Amino acid sequence: MRRKIVAGNWKMNMLPDATMSVLEELQTLIEGATAEVVVCVPFTDLNYAYYATQEKKTVHIGAQNMHWEESGAYTGEISPSMLTAINCEYVIIGHSERRQYFAETDETVNKKIKAALAHNLKPIVCVGETLEQREAGETVNVITSQIHNAFEGLEAKDLDNIVVAYEPIWAIGTGKTATSEEANDAIKEIRNQIEKDFSTGDISILYGGSVKPENAKELFTTSDIDGGLVGGASLKADVFSKIVNYDKE
Ligand code: PEP
Repeated sequence: MRRKIVAGNWKMNMLPDATMSVLEELQTLIEGATAEVVVCVPFTDLNYAYYATQEKKTVHIGAQNMHWEESGAYTGEISPSMLTAINCEYVIIGHSERRQYFAETDETVNKKIKAALAHNLKPIVCVGETLEQREAGETVNVITSQIHNAFEGLEAKDLDNIVVAYEPIWAIGTGKTATSEEANDAIKEIRNQIEKDFSTGDISILYGGSVKPENAKELFTTSDIDGGLVGGASLKADVFSKIVNYDKE
Protein backbone atom coordinates (compact mmCIF):
# COMPACT_ATOMS: atom_id res chain seq x y z
CA MET A 1 0.00 0.00 0.00
CA ARG A 2 1.30 3.46 -0.87
CA ARG A 3 2.14 5.49 2.21
CA LYS A 4 4.40 8.47 2.93
CA ILE A 5 7.75 7.43 4.38
CA VAL A 6 10.81 9.49 5.23
CA ALA A 7 13.82 7.26 5.87
CA GLY A 8 17.30 8.27 7.00
CA ASN A 9 20.42 6.40 5.92
CA TRP A 10 23.22 7.16 8.35
CA LYS A 11 25.75 5.15 6.31
CA MET A 12 29.02 4.52 8.26
CA ASN A 13 28.44 7.34 10.73
CA MET A 14 27.47 7.71 14.40
CA LEU A 15 28.72 6.03 17.58
CA PRO A 16 26.23 4.67 20.17
CA ASP A 17 26.14 7.81 22.39
CA ALA A 18 25.43 10.06 19.44
CA THR A 19 22.86 7.59 18.12
CA MET A 20 20.87 7.83 21.31
CA SER A 21 21.07 11.59 21.62
CA VAL A 22 20.18 12.27 17.98
CA LEU A 23 17.20 9.90 18.20
CA GLU A 24 16.04 11.46 21.49
CA GLU A 25 16.08 14.91 19.93
CA LEU A 26 14.50 13.69 16.71
CA GLN A 27 11.55 12.14 18.52
CA THR A 28 10.70 15.41 20.23
CA LEU A 29 10.89 17.28 16.91
CA ILE A 30 8.68 14.95 14.87
CA GLU A 31 5.71 14.59 17.20
CA GLY A 32 2.55 14.54 15.10
CA ALA A 33 4.37 13.83 11.84
CA THR A 34 2.17 12.33 9.14
CA ALA A 35 4.94 10.42 7.36
CA GLU A 36 6.26 7.15 8.72
CA VAL A 37 9.82 7.77 9.93
CA VAL A 38 12.59 5.19 9.53
CA VAL A 39 16.24 5.55 10.53
CA CYS A 40 18.74 3.03 9.12
CA VAL A 41 21.79 2.91 11.37
CA PRO A 42 25.08 0.96 11.39
CA PHE A 43 24.81 -2.60 12.77
CA THR A 44 26.63 -1.60 15.97
CA ASP A 45 23.99 1.06 16.70
CA LEU A 46 20.89 -1.08 16.13
CA ASN A 47 20.38 -2.12 19.72
CA TYR A 48 20.96 1.40 21.03
CA ALA A 49 18.61 2.82 18.42
CA TYR A 50 15.90 0.35 19.40
CA TYR A 51 16.10 1.18 23.09
CA ALA A 52 16.17 4.91 22.39
CA THR A 53 12.92 4.69 20.39
CA GLN A 54 10.88 1.83 21.84
CA GLU A 55 8.94 3.95 24.32
CA LYS A 56 7.52 6.46 21.84
CA LYS A 57 7.58 4.14 18.84
CA THR A 58 7.47 7.06 16.40
CA VAL A 59 10.75 6.07 14.74
CA HIS A 60 11.20 2.71 13.02
CA ILE A 61 14.68 1.23 12.99
CA GLY A 62 16.45 -0.29 10.00
CA ALA A 63 19.82 -1.78 9.04
CA GLN A 64 21.73 -0.90 5.88
CA ASN A 65 22.55 -4.37 4.55
CA MET A 66 22.40 -8.07 5.42
CA HIS A 67 23.37 -11.47 4.01
CA TRP A 68 20.68 -13.74 2.55
CA GLU A 69 21.89 -16.90 4.31
CA GLU A 70 20.62 -17.86 7.73
CA SER A 71 24.02 -18.75 9.24
CA GLY A 72 27.34 -20.27 8.32
CA ALA A 73 30.89 -19.55 7.22
CA TYR A 74 30.41 -15.97 6.00
CA THR A 75 32.93 -14.07 8.08
CA GLY A 76 31.87 -10.51 8.79
CA GLU A 77 28.31 -10.91 7.57
CA ILE A 78 25.00 -10.42 9.41
CA SER A 79 21.96 -12.68 8.85
CA PRO A 80 18.27 -11.72 8.70
CA SER A 81 17.50 -13.39 12.02
CA MET A 82 20.40 -11.57 13.69
CA LEU A 83 18.57 -8.38 12.71
CA THR A 84 15.12 -9.47 13.82
CA ALA A 85 16.54 -10.79 17.12
CA ILE A 86 17.38 -7.19 18.04
CA ASN A 87 14.04 -5.81 16.84
CA CYS A 88 15.23 -4.37 13.54
CA GLU A 89 12.25 -3.74 11.26
CA TYR A 90 13.64 -2.44 7.95
CA VAL A 91 16.78 -3.16 5.92
CA ILE A 92 18.21 -1.22 2.98
CA ILE A 93 19.02 -3.57 0.10
CA GLY A 94 21.12 -2.77 -2.98
CA HIS A 95 22.20 0.76 -2.10
CA SER A 96 24.38 2.07 -4.95
CA GLU A 97 27.38 2.31 -2.59
CA ARG A 98 27.06 -1.42 -1.95
CA ARG A 99 26.67 -2.13 -5.67
CA GLN A 100 29.69 0.06 -6.42
CA TYR A 101 32.12 -0.88 -3.62
CA PHE A 102 30.96 -4.32 -2.49
CA ALA A 103 29.98 -6.06 -5.73
CA GLU A 104 26.26 -6.15 -4.98
CA THR A 105 24.35 -7.29 -8.09
CA ASP A 106 20.68 -7.58 -9.09
CA GLU A 107 21.00 -11.27 -8.27
CA THR A 108 22.25 -10.74 -4.71
CA VAL A 109 19.66 -8.00 -4.28
CA ASN A 110 16.95 -10.48 -5.29
CA LYS A 111 18.22 -13.11 -2.81
CA LYS A 112 18.39 -10.55 -0.02
CA ILE A 113 14.86 -9.27 -0.66
CA LYS A 114 13.49 -12.82 -0.50
CA ALA A 115 15.43 -13.55 2.70
CA ALA A 116 14.28 -10.29 4.30
CA LEU A 117 10.61 -10.98 3.49
CA ALA A 118 10.90 -14.54 4.80
CA HIS A 119 12.00 -13.06 8.14
CA ASN A 120 9.40 -10.28 8.26
CA LEU A 121 11.99 -7.60 7.61
CA LYS A 122 10.87 -4.80 5.28
CA PRO A 123 13.40 -4.22 2.51
CA ILE A 124 14.06 -0.72 1.20
CA VAL A 125 15.24 -1.61 -2.30
CA CYS A 126 17.45 0.95 -4.04
CA VAL A 127 17.74 1.43 -7.80
CA GLY A 128 19.22 4.25 -9.85
CA GLU A 129 21.31 5.18 -12.86
CA THR A 130 24.79 6.66 -13.17
CA LEU A 131 25.38 10.05 -14.78
CA GLU A 132 26.86 8.29 -17.81
CA GLN A 133 23.72 6.17 -18.21
CA ARG A 134 21.46 9.22 -17.86
CA GLU A 135 23.43 11.14 -20.46
CA ALA A 136 23.27 8.16 -22.83
CA GLY A 137 19.47 8.12 -22.50
CA GLU A 138 19.51 4.76 -20.69
CA THR A 139 17.81 5.80 -17.44
CA VAL A 140 14.48 4.10 -18.03
CA ASN A 141 16.09 0.86 -19.25
CA VAL A 142 18.50 0.73 -16.32
CA ILE A 143 16.00 1.38 -13.55
CA THR A 144 13.20 -0.78 -14.96
CA SER A 145 15.52 -3.74 -15.49
CA GLN A 146 17.00 -3.29 -11.99
CA ILE A 147 13.53 -3.43 -10.48
CA HIS A 148 12.36 -6.30 -12.72
CA ASN A 149 15.41 -8.41 -11.76
CA ALA A 150 15.30 -7.45 -8.10
CA PHE A 151 11.64 -8.54 -7.83
CA GLU A 152 11.96 -11.78 -9.79
CA GLY A 153 10.01 -14.60 -8.14
CA LEU A 154 8.04 -12.31 -5.80
CA GLU A 155 4.25 -12.15 -5.56
CA ALA A 156 1.95 -9.12 -5.60
CA LYS A 157 1.18 -9.59 -1.90
CA ASP A 158 4.90 -9.06 -1.11
CA LEU A 159 4.72 -5.48 -2.38
CA ASP A 160 2.97 -4.33 0.81
CA ASN A 161 6.11 -5.11 2.78
CA ILE A 162 8.61 -3.59 0.36
CA VAL A 163 9.66 0.02 -0.14
CA VAL A 164 11.53 1.11 -3.28
CA ALA A 165 13.97 4.02 -3.35
CA TYR A 166 14.86 5.62 -6.66
CA GLU A 167 18.30 7.09 -6.12
CA PRO A 168 20.08 8.50 -9.18
CA ILE A 169 23.74 7.86 -8.39
CA TRP A 170 24.78 11.28 -9.67
CA ALA A 171 22.58 12.90 -7.01
CA ILE A 172 23.80 10.94 -3.98
CA GLY A 173 26.00 12.97 -1.66
CA THR A 174 26.74 15.46 -4.43
CA GLY A 175 24.39 18.27 -3.47
CA LYS A 176 22.90 17.83 -6.96
CA THR A 177 19.21 16.92 -6.68
CA ALA A 178 17.08 15.57 -9.52
CA THR A 179 14.33 18.07 -10.33
CA SER A 180 10.96 17.03 -8.97
CA GLU A 181 9.88 16.39 -12.54
CA GLU A 182 12.90 14.15 -13.34
CA ALA A 183 12.43 12.23 -10.10
CA ASN A 184 8.67 11.87 -10.53
CA ASP A 185 9.05 10.72 -14.16
CA ALA A 186 11.61 8.06 -13.21
CA ILE A 187 9.45 6.85 -10.33
CA LYS A 188 6.44 6.62 -12.66
CA GLU A 189 8.50 4.34 -14.94
CA ILE A 190 9.44 2.14 -11.98
CA ARG A 191 5.79 1.96 -10.91
CA ASN A 192 4.72 1.07 -14.48
CA GLN A 193 7.26 -1.76 -14.58
CA ILE A 194 5.98 -3.11 -11.26
CA GLU A 195 2.43 -2.83 -12.56
CA LYS A 196 3.45 -4.80 -15.67
CA ASP A 197 5.05 -7.52 -13.56
CA PHE A 198 2.49 -7.76 -10.74
CA SER A 199 -0.70 -6.14 -12.10
CA THR A 200 -0.49 -3.47 -9.41
CA GLY A 201 1.67 -0.43 -8.83
CA ASP A 202 0.46 0.02 -5.29
CA ILE A 203 3.84 0.29 -3.54
CA SER A 204 5.68 3.11 -1.77
CA ILE A 205 8.46 4.53 -3.92
CA LEU A 206 10.82 7.09 -2.39
CA TYR A 207 13.25 9.53 -3.98
CA GLY A 208 16.83 9.73 -2.68
CA GLY A 209 19.69 12.01 -3.65
CA SER A 210 20.59 15.21 -1.82
CA VAL A 211 17.15 15.66 -0.25
CA LYS A 212 17.18 18.63 2.13
CA PRO A 213 14.61 20.75 3.98
CA GLU A 214 14.54 23.21 1.06
CA ASN A 215 13.50 20.67 -1.59
CA ALA A 216 11.61 17.99 0.37
CA LYS A 217 8.13 19.48 -0.01
CA GLU A 218 8.39 19.98 -3.76
CA LEU A 219 9.67 16.43 -4.27
CA PHE A 220 7.32 14.65 -1.87
CA THR A 221 4.13 16.30 -3.11
CA THR A 222 4.43 15.16 -6.74
CA SER A 223 2.06 12.49 -8.06
CA ASP A 224 4.31 9.45 -7.71
CA ILE A 225 6.93 10.22 -5.05
CA ASP A 226 5.93 8.75 -1.68
CA GLY A 227 8.69 10.32 0.42
CA GLY A 228 12.46 10.18 0.64
CA LEU A 229 15.57 8.23 1.51
CA VAL A 230 17.88 10.78 3.05
CA GLY A 231 21.63 10.39 3.60
CA GLY A 232 23.68 13.38 4.77
CA ALA A 233 20.70 15.45 5.90
CA SER A 234 19.50 12.67 8.23
CA LEU A 235 22.52 12.92 10.54
CA LYS A 236 21.28 16.00 12.40
CA ALA A 237 17.95 15.82 14.19
CA ASP A 238 17.01 19.45 13.53
CA VAL A 239 17.68 19.14 9.79
CA PHE A 240 16.11 15.69 9.36
CA SER A 241 13.02 16.69 11.34
CA LYS A 242 12.39 19.54 8.88
CA ILE A 243 12.34 16.98 6.06
CA VAL A 244 10.02 14.71 8.04
CA ASN A 245 7.78 17.71 8.71
CA TYR A 246 7.82 18.75 5.03
CA ASP A 247 4.03 19.11 5.02
CA LYS A 248 3.88 21.46 8.03
CA GLU A 249 4.27 25.21 7.87
C1 PEP B 1 21.66 7.95 0.36
O1 PEP B 1 22.74 7.64 0.83
O2 PEP B 1 20.79 7.09 0.23
C2 PEP B 1 21.45 9.34 -0.03
C3 PEP B 1 20.37 9.65 -0.71
O3 PEP B 1 22.41 10.24 0.34
P1 PEP B 1 22.32 11.87 0.27
O4 PEP B 1 20.96 12.25 0.79
O5 PEP B 1 23.43 12.33 1.16
O6 PEP B 1 22.49 12.25 -1.15
